[in-house]
Amino acid sequence: MIFLDNAAGSYPKPQQVVQAMGRALEDYGANPGRGGYELSLRASRAVYQAREKAAEFFGCPNPERLIFTSGATESLNIALFGYLKKGDHVIYSGMEHNALWRPLMRLVELGTITATCVKADRYGYVHISDFQAAIRPQTALICCLHASNVTGCVQPLGQLGIIAASHKIPLLTDVAQSAGLLPISVADGHIALLAFAGHKGLYGPSGIGGLYVDEKIELQPLIYGGTGSNSDQWQQPDYYPDRLESGTANFAGIIGLSTALDFVNECGIDSLFARADSLCNRFIEGAGNIKGITLYLPRWQCRRLPVVSLNIKGLDSAEAAAALDEEYGIAVRSGLHCSPLAHKSIGTESLGGALRFSFGCFNTENQVERVLLSLRSLADAQK
Ligand code: PMP
Repeated sequence: MIFLDNAAGSYPKPQQVVQAMGRALEDYGANPGRGGYELSLRASRAVYQAREKAAEFFGCPNPERLIFTSGATESLNIALFGYLKKGDHVIYSGMEHNALWRPLMRLVELGTITATCVKADRYGYVHISDFQAAIRPQTALICCLHASNVTGCVQPLGQLGIIAASHKIPLLTDVAQSAGLLPISVADGHIALLAFAGHKGLYGPSGIGGLYVDEKIELQPLIYGGTGSNSDQWQQPDYYPDRLESGTANFAGIIGLSTALDFVNECGIDSLFARADSLCNRFIEGAGNIKGITLYLPRWQCRRLPVVSLNIKGLDSAEAAAALDEEYGIAVRSGLHCSPLAHKSIGTESLGGALRFSFGCFNTENQVERVLLSLRSLADAQK
């Protein structure tokens, strides 16, 4: 099997991640933060170290403000529902994933907020001047993902951070796709809220991710319950991470993420990016030479993650994905990729989306050549 759906979730996982998760279940097995006995304390220490590691990875000044969640979706829900208040105005980009768009639209539907979508150009890039023009006195939050899960287009997050800071408006970013591929620093980027997923470019397991919350931001919890602290009070603790982490932690997932961060740090994000990028470049070059294929690439000046979407003339993307899987053993994702906004921006919404190829560090040159041959056969068969 050739796996080219790393933007949905990287596969395979590094062996050390698999082993560390097995060991976590075998050796610790107790509820972190809930018992005074050695096994639980060991688990708590491991969670603490994982939190410190994740905070360092994203340049977060205070590890306690980094909370573990089930992934980017939960993080974004906690941020939006926890921060926004009646009458707030929010600006978001036309490349967002449903993980942000849907909770935001729910808040609009409830009448809590109003929201302005800053459209992307047809290459999937959002322009700083359009964000600036959308700012109103009531604007309480600016949301922009770091990089698109459809085109890989990297957005001008650094500049947006400067603008948001100059207007004293918090910036919320979704780094689900870019974490592990691009350097990210909360402190340098003026990022107030950062949502990440562990299972993509970080090479961790699914079901684990996190949210960083700047000291200046106060969030109401989305989920209330047991934290193993202040148990005599009905109120949720007011300190982090307990305030936003109720219920038993995904311990094996946290250990998996922690080991995955070691893997990424040891490889180096520059070399992880360079490896996947060179495979992606070869793929783009080859696919661009196949008649009947339309590639949806960012403009050449824009940075791109190793993610490419395309369509084959005369073939629905779902049919193409099924044919690649059944006839050639190639795993890719078709359709709207949970981002109708992005597909609308690049003009593929009416086509039902596109076929997405996303590369990871375990892919090889040989695989890319085999995929190109398969694509050529599929495209030729449509003539
Ligand atoms: N945002 C983006 C840009 C994504 O690509 C994804 C995953 N498809 C998500 C959010 C949701 O991440 P998770 O599955 O960790 O909730």
